[in-house]
Amino acid sequence: DTVESRFVAMTPGSGRLFEQARSLFPSGITHDSRHLAPYPLAVGRASGPRKWDVDGNEYVDYIGGHGALLLGHADPDVTAAMMAQIPNGTHYGSSHPAEVAWGALIRELMPAAERVRFTNSGTEATLLALRLARAYTGKPRFLRFAGHFHGWHDAASVGHLSHFDSTSPIGVLPGIAQNVVVAPPNDAARVEELLATDDGIAAVIVEPTGQTFGRVPIAPEFLRTLRELTTRYGVLLMFDEVITGFRVSPGGAQVAFGVDPDLTSLAKVVAGGMPGAAITGRKDILDFLDFEVTAARGGEKIRHQGTFNANPVAAAAGVAALTKIRDTGACERASATAAEIRDGLNAVFAAEGVPWAAYGTSSAFHLFLNGRNLPIDPLDFEPAAYSPDELRSNDPGVVNALRLAMMCEGVDLAGWPGGIVSATHGPAEVTATVAAARRSIAALRS
Ligand code: PLP
Repeated sequence: DTVESRFVAMTPGSGRLFEQARSLFPSGITHDSRHLAPYPLAVGRASGPRKWDVDGNEYVDYIGGHGALLLGHADPDVTAAMMAQIPNGTHYGSSHPAEVAWGALIRELMPAAERVRFTNSGTEATLLALRLARAYTGKPRFLRFAGHFHGWHDAASVGHLSHFDSTSPIGVLPGIAQNVVVAPPNDAARVEELLATDDGIAAVIVEPTGQTFGRVPIAPEFLRTLRELTTRYGVLLMFDEVITGFRVSPGGAQVAFGVDPDLTSLAKVVAGGMPGAAITGRKDILDFLDFEVTAARGGEKIRHQGTFNANPVAAAAGVAALTKIRDTGACERASATAAEIRDGLNAVFAAEGVPWAAYGTSSAFHLFLNGRNLPIDPLDFEPAAYSPDELRSNDPGVVNALRLAMMCEGVDLAGWPGGIVSATHGPAEVTATVAAARRSIAALRS
């Protein structure tokens, strides 16, 4: 009985749906990270930290809506806010009170957000922020860190997967890569060298806890160095807080680490589980979107539209979510639970003698599955001792098998692999997850 045959036996509904999906969607999926062999779970409903597939199997959820659900699934306050809005209209194509309340809350929580512009996704947010940086500085290029994810638009796609490789991925205009400078994370000397020798760099963009919410961690000290270097060389500093915003702390990584970026991209938590996103930052930069300011100085305005920008239902969800995050200690709760999960998993790995380790900060846990089977001590694991390549080196076959085994035990891990923890995860989920890991290791051994 392989884990795959057990998984297939318990998920016939997901399997049938996948057959249909495969005839509709490339690979049968609608987001690359939902790819899983033999097929992904089809989810029927979700509540708090749990979800149920279409066959009624229950899982502890660690996908967390790709990170959007700091408050867990179907938070009652967020749901009530959306239900109050929907009968009054789902789209006005006009200004409305909820967008003002939403923007004001963002600025209250993130003081560096002097101005806010709403978009629909994190991809749109980094696209707009990079355009603003070019307009403001008059320079064409941006510096990014290998492996960091900033969405899938053309410029963001250079240097994401093929790190250090500044060629344009397939389908991306060839000229784009010339204006993307890729640096290794945590290498301040290299950043300084690049900024000192290239005067065409408009901005440095960074995921403030490192690639994939800290899978390849970067130190807060590196952010402070980036702030110092970018200021010295007249380059803008952009934090991509799509995943860290309102999660690492109510004010995101920038407030937690005390570093004010010039521009910030936000998505996920900001809209309380609905599609919605934003860029925020210095007024003099966002002024390039302002009709009056640009007209008064006789300059060109950056054009920016978007049918669903600040959609009223997303705004209502965002206001409810950010209010609750501000008032209830949700970030701290999620982070404390994630720490318990990391400790519990490491105790299992040590007891079982597998060369694996759980690590991470904030409300994330990452699993290092050490494809080379070197001896490691899970109870004393320090990701900083490993190179980015090693941290990314998990064998995809092992990851897939572990995910299937954990699903058979009622836990759905995120695919990198690891998990994003919500404020609704608690002792019951910690216990279930640790027990599932112990049984999964036994299943994978047999
Ligand atoms: N930036 C970061 C750091 C992300 O984690 C993501 C999504 O996972 C994005 C950008 C892209 O956001 P979206 O999926 O909303 O386009």
